[in-house]
Amino acid sequence: MATDVKGLTSNEFNDWCPGCGDAGIVLAVKNAIMKANLNPNKTVIVSGIGCSSKLPHFVNVNGVHTLHGRAIPFAEGIKMANPDLNVLIDSGDGDTYGIGVGHFISAGRRNNDIKLFIHDNGVYSLTKGQASPTLPEGRKTKSLPEPNINGALNPLSLAIMSGYNFVARAQSYKVNELSDIMTKAIQHKGLALVDILQGCPTYNPEFTSAAWFNAHTKPLPDGYDGVVKDPSNREEVNQKKLQAINLLLNEDPDNMHVGIFFQNEDPDIFESRLQKRGMVPPLTQKIADDKGRPATDIQPVLESLKI
Ligand code: SF4
Ligand code: MG
Repeated sequence: MATDVKGLTSNEFNDWCPGCGDAGIVLAVKNAIMKANLNPNKTVIVSGIGCSSKLPHFVNVNGVHTLHGRAIPFAEGIKMANPDLNVLIDSGDGDTYGIGVGHFISAGRRNNDIKLFIHDNGVYSLTKGQASPTLPEGRKTKSLPEPNINGALNPLSLAIMSGYNFVARAQSYKVNELSDIMTKAIQHKGLALVDILQGCPTYNPEFTSAAWFNAHTKPLPDGYDGVVKDPSNREEVNQKKLQAINLLLNEDPDNMHVGIFFQNEDPDIFESRLQKRGMVPPLTQKIADDKGRPATDIQPVLESLKI
């Protein structure tokens, strides 16, 4: 059982290459868990498959290292079974925006109270650096024989259009800034995405070094405010969404913004919708009486299926 979220020494990150941005991200996750005052015993980190998905092994909270592209449905199931848990996802861009993109979109329609921290390095790094869905067209990384022939998916605008209510971008080598944004995502009630520009010095060193990120990212424009003040005001919600998407559409991949693009504390989260329908989370349902005899009865279910 998890008891703390103490820091690790660098030699404990021996699953990652030297200089990998994942090391900064794991520190930011730990800091955010502490800043948001989450109980480690009631916190779960879910991951898919990839270099980034090893992260749950390095944080002393509950963790589930699941299947390729399937972190989101696992996390949704955990949250619905026990809404008291704080459910975080740490996975990669290939895992989430490639094989798992259907789940990524559908999650926005539900708006569960879970947080996605996506390590975005433009490559499938665990399988030797093939182009991921976020690698811009024309970029050539170490494993590609020719520059990328495909256009890039923009995960932030896709998230906003899918229904995510907290959408932000940060980078892996600025741990304090990253952990501040993660903390805000955790404190936000509802589905949150933090897309993390992550350094992969092994397979995408040219476009993901700390120096490259520092030269090619900038804060949101002066006066930009992505936070919705009145979630019941559809006009304001749409105006803030359009503001964010307009900024993202006009971004140059060599000159990206970091910060919170959109936030809307919409109380209509999936757990509330289930509660309104009278559905009781499985973990709180009584399954046996005091003598251990089953308290479940399938007769009402059978009755409900009669035509
Ligand atoms: Fe990190 Fe890239 Fe090495 Fe994977 S291959 S551990 S992402 S540096
Ligand atoms: Mg990747």
